Amino acid sequence: AQHQLARIRQHQDLGAFLALDDEKALAQARAADEQLAAGNAPALAGVPIAHKDIFATADLPTTAGSRILAGYRSPFDATVVRKLAEAGAVNLGKLSCDEFAMGSSNENVAVPAVGFDHAVPVRNPWDRTRIPGGSSGGSAVAVAARLVPAATGTDTGGSIRQPASFCGVTGIKPTYGRASRYGMVAFASSLDQAGPFARSAEDCALMLSALCGPDPEHDSTSLDRPAEDFSHHLSDSLDGLRIGVPREFLGEGVAPGVRAAIEAALGEYEKLGARRVEVTLPRTELSIPVYYIIAAAEASSNLSRFDGVKFGHRAKNYRDLADMYAKTREEGFGDEVKRRVMIGTYVLSHGYYDAYYLQAQKVRRMIADDFQQAFAHCDLIAGPAAPTVAWKLGEHGDDPVADYLADIFTLPGSLAGLPGMSVPAGFDGGMPVGLQLIGNYFGEAKLLNAAHRFQ
Ligand code: GLN
Repeated sequence: AQHQLARIRQHQDLGAFLALDDEKALAQARAADEQLAAGNAPALAGVPIAHKDIFATADLPTTAGSRILAGYRSPFDATVVRKLAEAGAVNLGKLSCDEFAMGSSNENVAVPAVGFDHAVPVRNPWDRTRIPGGSSGGSAVAVAARLVPAATGTDTGGSIRQPASFCGVTGIKPTYGRASRYGMVAFASSLDQAGPFARSAEDCALMLSALCGPDPEHDSTSLDRPAEDFSHHLSDSLDGLRIGVPREFLGEGVAPGVRAAIEAALGEYEKLGARRVEVTLPRTELSIPVYYIIAAAEASSNLSRFDGVKFGHRAKNYRDLADMYAKTREEGFGDEVKRRVMIGTYVLSHGYYDAYYLQAQKVRRMIADDFQQAFAHCDLIAGPAAPTVAWKLGEHGDDPVADYLADIFTLPGSLAGLPGMSVPAGFDGGMPVGLQLIGNYFGEAKLLNAAHRFQ
């Protein structure tokens, strides 16, 4: 823990951390030392980790990257935070992310990083002029730059898989409902899932085993599946494994260098005894409008709790209650968050609900059905996590749609609630390329097995 804290300070120009507390971290580390000495240590005793600042922590501020929560202290720990602490992991601090997890570049963060007095975008350690991906950019960078061996993130439409891909680390989003959402600042509740980032599938398996499990008291969508030991099948043979490659995932719009890296990875799998089969996910393109309607609709509802009364920031000068709400939200939310709230409110409003929200829900179901058709022919699905490598800071400028389009390969699996991961597969022009693996419901062990044999 001491070594990692020093290294975090040495590399604070990356902007990965939003909060640190050395004293509390070192106290946890000492407790872990004692457990280890006594021979009754839990699985992750003494492993330094850090949490995306979307998880509520009683010991450190929780901001979700937003001005509206600047300085906010949660009275409790998120279930994921509690479970990792019970497993002995030592929490060093909180990691930068796009505001309320809305974004693909970590440029939407609105609170200062450690070592700065203003908000800064997180930098990709492979090339500091590039974005790390988002929204869990801080988590991916912290692992890639060896600031921690593992970190937590959340994935609503790709926020674990895409930054893992852009930073050359491994990340897994489990089946929707595997991990409790209690204490995760809510963005889109029917999509949000927690998961780990680490350097290997093996480390991800250890983290995932610790953080998953039912939480009936606090999250009614957490599934009644006992926690599993995900490291059990890591070394299973891949002989005869059918890997489905959706033809929509390697078509137009995929950078040639990304396609080459993915093809090479698929070739390696064939050498390991796997069989490549072509499958189709015909509604891949529709996943973008469907996701950006559903996620915005849910966000507009979830974010109504930030009104200046109950949490964080409150505007100073106001005429009456309505004016206080309006000014607080005007000052507290960034542009992207406001855009989502406006889109979400619009698609849920009378007269537009049937035309947008209801249609999106129908297509969402069709997308989930398409996956089941594909899984009739294969055991898991493979393709790129993103169409390109990490782009330059500022490259998408004021064009949010450029960000949205880059989510095309992670959104379908999210809408279907399927587990997915990104595994380092190679490079394009010196920047990492991630291979995305998508499994059927509860297929995490199979994903980790395939990732482990490949690494
Ligand atoms: N990039 C997507 C968005 O902006 C996904 C974010 C996420 O998974 N949290 O909504």
